[in-house]
Amino acid sequence: MSALDASKLEITKTTTPKEPLANDKLVFGQSFTDHILEIDWTKEEGWGTPKITPYHNFQMDPATCVLHYSFELFEGMKAYRDSQGKIRTFRPDKNMERMNRTAKRASLPTFDGEEFIKLLDKFLALEERFVPQGKGYSLYLRPTLIGTSIGLGVSSPTKAKLYCIASPVGPYFGAGFKPVSLEATDYAVRAWPKGVGAYKLGANYVSCIEPQSEAAKRGHSQNLWLFGEEGEITEVGAMNVFFAFENDDKTKELVTAPLDGMILPGVTRDSAIQLARARLDSKEWSVSERKLTIHEVKERAAKGQLIEAFGTGTAAIVAPINNIEFRGENIEVPCTAGGSGEIAKNICEWIQDIQYGVEEFENWSRVAN
Ligand SMILES: *Cc1c(COP(=O)(O)O)cnc(C)c1O
Repeated sequence: MSALDASKLEITKTTTPKEPLANDKLVFGQSFTDHILEIDWTKEEGWGTPKITPYHNFQMDPATCVLHYSFELFEGMKAYRDSQGKIRTFRPDKNMERMNRTAKRASLPTFDGEEFIKLLDKFLALEERFVPQGKGYSLYLRPTLIGTSIGLGVSSPTKAKLYCIASPVGPYFGAGFKPVSLEATDYAVRAWPKGVGAYKLGANYVSCIEPQSEAAKRGHSQNLWLFGEEGEITEVGAMNVFFAFENDDKTKELVTAPLDGMILPGVTRDSAIQLARARLDSKEWSVSERKLTIHEVKERAAKGQLIEAFGTGTAAIVAPINNIEFRGENIEVPCTAGGSGEIAKNICEWIQDIQYGVEEFENWSRVAN
C-alpha cells in the first residue's frame, strides 16, 4: 500500500498553451488552466503516481460509482499573487484536514495533506501564468475526490481519483461591496443533527438548488438555512454567517453558529473569529460561537440592536447582508460603510492583507514558489 508521495510527480506539459484571459474577462469556474493534477488510488496498491497532464475529459463506465451513489467531495481554495510576484495559498492545511475528514465519512481514501499541498505548489509553479495580478484576483483551486470503481453494488469504492483543476477569478463584488438579500428558509432543511452538513460533500449541494431558485424568484440571492422548531440559524449554504449586536449596556457581540455538525466549518469563518478576537477591542466586543435563532435576530433588529450581518467564504471572503426575509416580513440590516458594515469591511481587509502577503499572521499564508 503506497502513501501519497509528491516526489514521484510526473509532468507532461501541454503542446498547445492557452493565453490567460484578461482580468476583466474572468468568470468564476468558466475558464480553466492548461493542466490537471491527478492521482489514482486502488484498495490493493494505495496511491499511485501523481501526474500533471494537459487538461482533459474523463472516460467513465456508465456504472462508475460516483455517477450513482454520489461518492464525491471537494475543496475550494485560492492562490494569490503577492506584490513581489510570488504565489501564495491561504491556510491550505485547513482545507486538507477538512478534505480528509470528509473522505473518511464518504468511505473514500484519505491521504497525507502535506504531500497534496506540495503537489499543489508544483501545479501552481507550472500554471503560474494563470494566477492573475491585483487585489481581489486569484486562481481558484478545486481539489476533488471521486469514487471510480465500476458496479452497482452499494459498498466502499475500491478505486478512487483525487484531482485538482483551477480557474482564474476576479473579485466577487466588482467595485466595492454589493450587499445581498437572503430568504430565511424553513420549508426545506440543508442539514440536521448527526447528518453530514459539516462535510464538503457534493451531495449537500444538490438539494439546495431548488429552494435557492425559489428564493431567487422572490428577489433573494441566497437562502439562510434555519433548523428546527426554534428557527435556529445555521448558515447560507456556501457561506457561514455572522451577526453583530449591540447589548443594552452598549457592549457588542459578534455571533456565529457553533460547530455542532450542522454547519460547514469554514476556513474563512475560523479566520474571521480568530482575527476578530485578536483585533477588536475586547473591552467593547465579545466574539461568540453560539446558538442563535431568526427570532432573536428579528427582535433585536426591531430594538435597533442589530448592527450588521455578513456571510463568509473563500469565494467572497465576506458578503455583507442588507435584508433577510422571514415568512413574508423583511428584517432590514444596516450597511453603513459603503455597502458593508464596519466589521465585515475590516475583516475582509485583514484577511486579504494576509492572503496577498501584505501582512503575516500565524503562518496562514504559504509561499508556493
Ligand atoms: C465551502 C463552504 C463554506 C465556506 O467555507 P470556506 O472554507 O470559508 O470557503 C460554507 N458553507 C458551505 C456549505 C460550504 O460548502
